[in-house]
Amino acid sequence: TKKIAALKVDVPPPKTQGLDVVKEYENSGAKKSTSFVVVGHVDAGKSTLMGRLLVDLKYVDQRTVEKYKRQAEKSGKQSFALAWVMDQRSEERERGVTIDIATNYFETDQTKYTILDAPGHRDFVPNMIAGASQADFAILVIDANTGAYEKGLKGQTREHILLLRSLGLQRVIVAVNKLDMVGWSKDRFNDITQEVTGFLTGLGFQEQNVDFVPISGLDGENIVKKITAPAASWYEGGTLLEALEKSEPTTIRALKKPFRMAISEIFRSQQQGTTTLAGRIDSGTIQIGDSLVVQPSGETAYIKSIMVDTDAQDWAVAGQNVSIALTDIDPIHIRVGDILCHAANPIPCGDTFTMKAMAFEHLMPMPVDLHRGRLHAPGQIQSITASLDKATGEIIKKKPKVIQPGGVARVVIKLNEKVPLEAGQRVVIRGGGETIAAGLLE
Ligand code: GDP
Repeated sequence: TKKIAALKVDVPPPKTQGLDVVKEYENSGAKKSTSFVVVGHVDAGKSTLMGRLLVDLKYVDQRTVEKYKRQAEKSGKQSFALAWVMDQRSEERERGVTIDIATNYFETDQTKYTILDAPGHRDFVPNMIAGASQADFAILVIDANTGAYEKGLKGQTREHILLLRSLGLQRVIVAVNKLDMVGWSKDRFNDITQEVTGFLTGLGFQEQNVDFVPISGLDGENIVKKITAPAASWYEGGTLLEALEKSEPTTIRALKKPFRMAISEIFRSQQQGTTTLAGRIDSGTIQIGDSLVVQPSGETAYIKSIMVDTDAQDWAVAGQNVSIALTDIDPIHIRVGDILCHAANPIPCGDTFTMKAMAFEHLMPMPVDLHRGRLHAPGQIQSITASLDKATGEIIKKKPKVIQPGGVARVVIKLNEKVPLEAGQRVVIRGGGETIAAGLLE
């Protein structure tokens, strides 16, 4: 067998053009890019809505939909056809089949969108973590049909919203779905708007960051096309797509922070001595020729080429999905979940962290796994420093023995080994197959 180390060959570092990437980005008129998660109770219509969005934007062709419709008719479930557009994708992913990028990616004239963890799984929370911890905003799907909505807000919907909030997401677009089933009732829409607004602001979301859009995912009403149902003539607001377009893109502020990218895929290239790392840039900018380091291994490398989505580029910025070809690196020490940084400003590695956590289960000193995106590290809750007020963050009690589900606390986490993490990052704590807490590192 060939030694992998033999791949590391001496080549001169790639030439850098010494660009001011932030300026390049501002002058390029490049489309903004943004990522979101879709949350809501099972059967609220998440898959149907995303399937509809991709069909109406022509990312899934009509023939594929017809195929699903025929399959769905055979099993007597016509209405599931659109959901199958999304569910099919998830199954393919589970089976490790290469899937078409178009099913979780779409763009408009102004924006490139990535749907992080598109729905399809029934056991949603574990899948949501990787997505929500990277998302710029969320779409919350509410089933407006009488009864189903009340149940939703208490059940999974509540858990999903708490998770978004504790991870520091700011913007939520509430898709009030299945309005076709209640005759496009204006009262129903207003009641839901009022109640969900109260719920969201109670958790600290700002009202100006929450939009409500009445839709029918099944009929394709008010998603990309304006509502045509006569019963909905009272509605004068925009479509769901217009609400998406209003979302703040990854800001210039994020570009000025140090470069960080969690590695989601590692490819060994045909070309001798190069390794390609893929992921979404969390913060900062890069350009060809930059000297990088992978943490925690400390492996260094130079950028030989950059692909943004599917185009070769000289530079890339926060929010973009990239594949970076590196020279002068031995991939044997690199793992999915590791963090790529500039060699001059690497992320620190540590094993003890303080976090402001929202509890989903009872929280006390116990063994846990810490998750950040694809990174997960075993360790324990070492101590609970204080319980905090959910809205203000003020200390309620010092050194409580236990935190009840729904409570917020400052906890100290001790991991079994050093991992690359820093203040301000979103992390999730799990144990025994359950999400125990989620929050921000301090
Ligand atoms: P998910 O579990 O949230 O992904 O929900 P699905 O997308 O699988 O939808 C659950 C059920 O609700 C399916 O039977 C859909 O056809 C139905 N559904 C979804 N959206 C709508 C809608 O806007 N109107 C109506 N009438 N049914 C819908």
